[in-house]
Amino acid sequence: MSSSTPAAAGDHAFSTRAIHAGQEFDPTTGAVVPPIYMTSTFVQDGIGNFRGGYEYARGGNPTRDSLQTLLASLEGGSHAFSFASGLAAEDTLLRAIVKPGDSIIMGNDVYGGTHRLVNRVFVPWGIGLSTVDMSDLDAVRAAVASAPPRVLWIETPSNPLMKISDIAALAEIGHAVGALVVVDNTFASPYLQQPISLGADVVVHSTTKYLGGHSDVLGGAVIVNSEELAASVGFLQFGVGAVSSPFDAWLTVRGIKTLAVRVERHSSNALAIAEALSGHPALDAVYYPGLESHPGYELAGRQMRAFGGMLSVALTGGPAAARTFAETTTLFQLAESLGGVESLIGYPSEMTHASVKGTELEVPENLIRLSVGIEDVDDLISDLTGALDAL
Ligand SMILES: *Cc1c(COP(=O)(O)O)cnc(C)c1O
Repeated sequence: MSSSTPAAAGDHAFSTRAIHAGQEFDPTTGAVVPPIYMTSTFVQDGIGNFRGGYEYARGGNPTRDSLQTLLASLEGGSHAFSFASGLAAEDTLLRAIVKPGDSIIMGNDVYGGTHRLVNRVFVPWGIGLSTVDMSDLDAVRAAVASAPPRVLWIETPSNPLMKISDIAALAEIGHAVGALVVVDNTFASPYLQQPISLGADVVVHSTTKYLGGHSDVLGGAVIVNSEELAASVGFLQFGVGAVSSPFDAWLTVRGIKTLAVRVERHSSNALAIAEALSGHPALDAVYYPGLESHPGYELAGRQMRAFGGMLSVALTGGPAAARTFAETTTLFQLAESLGGVESLIGYPSEMTHASVKGTELEVPENLIRLSVGIEDVDDLISDLTGALDAL
């Protein structure tokens, strides 16, 4: 099983840990980059006498361990577990913490796939689900008081309206009724905010996004800060087996080494774009927490190191204009997903959020979501304004 404490990284600052935690050079050859252990099994020196504790790769693999140690260090948790996808991570976590009769309260704007997983897989097995606006603390207090949940599931910034929820306040509200407080930290990444330090119990990630950072690998992670939770999630990682492959774990580690510099640039590019697009006649609204006009501006300023690389815009011309805009930009490529070095544009209502159509998570049909990459910001702005001007 799983991850050790960050050794070489110790008390160093984030950017240093992002490069060194769990990444000690190979003791046999001196290779600076730890090798990819592309093996499913490990020779035993005698029955049950394992070298380095490794037996079979579903239970443990050194490359996966190096990623897990790195993730635990960056999120300030005691243990991290890596999975084949973000949803595999969420599924394993939920199996570890809920049983029939328990209920989950989640934000009414969480990732559509998270809602689908709970609504279509867990609810039929006897788990309760309700949603609430997590940015409205009174609404959350009322929801947890009327039916205390086992899990309070938070996502901030949220998708696609970039709502900001107060992790520290929500952790208190959740803990007061004995709930486990889970934060999906995919949009912010640990560079921008560390939920465990704000009181959350568990962090989940789609490492497919900013952590991997290059749109070339799928993965997910669960980070906890308790031995008890670590034991149950660790058992299910092994017992269910939705683990990341050694190669995927290695690619994710490679991405994480540049997380700090990438997210700085994603954030500064997104802020410049949000400012440049504000007031454009083809747009009704620009949703970016780094704009003073955004309702989450102040909270985001306190809770996050910068405002991130994601923003959305609402088109004055309605759904038709939104579709044309998404199909006209050239640097911003029309695709699902986010968090890679290349800019992407999406039409949530029929792409990322198609699975929540007709539910309380439905999104406006004139909305376009941008995942701002790290290209030259002037090129990105001309791509967007060119397409908007042509509408
Ligand atoms: C993409 C995403 C997920 C799901 O992750 P996969 O790696 O696609 O399984 C979960 N939460 C958020 C916020 C995401 O953006």
